[in-house]
Amino acid sequence: MTDPVTAPPPGAAAPVCSAKGCREAAVWVLAWNNPKLHTPERRKTWLACEEHREHLSRFLGVRSFLKDVVPLAEWEGREGGQDPEGSAADR
Ligand SMILES: [Zn+2]
Repeated sequence: MTDPVTAPPPGAAAPVCSAKGCREAAVWVLAWNNPKLHTPERRKTWLACEEHREHLSRFLGVRSFLKDVVPLAEWEGREGGQDPEGSAADR
């Protein structure tokens, strides 16, 4: 398949929509999994602005890859709730 997204530029400050050619700030996180490539608990993520959320969701949805659509702030809250404390305790 041809991905409708571009890889994020390295070191990008603010999260930007993953849709090809779009430079809007990301508002949504689309969590997905391709069972042919990924283990079931693995989650790939695409970022989407308000405008592209539906487009990208549908792209993943028709392939049955889409697992979750979460507001970016909530997603970062989930991830951030575990990581910083964990890495601090490791050192
Ligand atoms: Zn967009």
